[in-house]
Amino acid sequence: MELWFSESQTKDQKISVRVLETLYSARSDYQEVAVYKTAQYGTLLALDDIIQTTEKDEFVYHEMITHVALNTHANPERVLVIGGGDGGAIREVLKHKSVKKATLAEIDRMVVEVSKRFLPAISCALDDERADVQICDGIKYIQEHKNEFDVIIVDSTDPIGPAVGLFSGQFYKMVYDALKDDGIFVAQTESPFYNTALIKNIHNDLKNLFPIVRLYLATVPTYPGGLWTFTLGSKKYDPLQVEHFDEMETKYYSPEIHRSAFVLPNFVKQLVDER
Ligand code: SAM
Repeated sequence: MELWFSESQTKDQKISVRVLETLYSARSDYQEVAVYKTAQYGTLLALDDIIQTTEKDEFVYHEMITHVALNTHANPERVLVIGGGDGGAIREVLKHKSVKKATLAEIDRMVVEVSKRFLPAISCALDDERADVQICDGIKYIQEHKNEFDVIIVDSTDPIGPAVGLFSGQFYKMVYDALKDDGIFVAQTESPFYNTALIKNIHNDLKNLFPIVRLYLATVPTYPGGLWTFTLGSKKYDPLQVEHFDEMETKYYSPEIHRSAFVLPNFVKQLVDER
């Protein structure tokens, strides 16, 4: 008998992956947490039946949500990742030698524990001495920190449940205040095919705060539609003007990808050009 995991990516589209074994399944205080061994993507982490990350394609997302901002900043020392309990973003952040401390503010302890147990290649840096893991609501955490971070990354679930507040104008103001004078913010901002209103709203909210706002793209096979957006707001440094790139091993990101990721197809350009 064949077993399949299916995610309803929209109400009219599903992605299905053949499951070799269910490794873990439990309800946390916040969501259904499941880990599957799959034929196509290796170990897969799903929350509330939505794919968060897989062993095979995680590098695209984790490299792109981190290195663009960290290379844009002249000297990133203090970094905050909100969400990101699988540890992939922290692993990439800590590849930058300038980073003295990378804080993870993840609401769900179970996501961190399950990732450490079943996704060691992704979560491996969570025990690094420069990693500071806080189990808390990222919104509450950011309210209590002002003028402290060089880079803030929001590596959240989709805008449902506890993540809704991470996509609001009010939250972005708190992010702005938690950043230093030359700080940079970046967030995963969903699919340009299916989340057009959300992308526009985020772009407009950030434009009300940051002098430099840029959207960039990457291709993540297991995310709805494949093509994925990230939105960056910067107080000083422009990601299009980066000249120095930290040397490190990556599978997707490179200086060429950094530059080309900001080249947008017309339909995406229109989304961010219209106010
Ligand atoms: N890369 C993933 C994606 O886009 O599908 C996101 C990965 S990461 C596992 C997302 C994490 O955000 C989840 O573990 C979830 O618990 C966390 N999260 C959601 N809302 C949060 C909040 N308000 N504060 C902190 N973490 C939150």
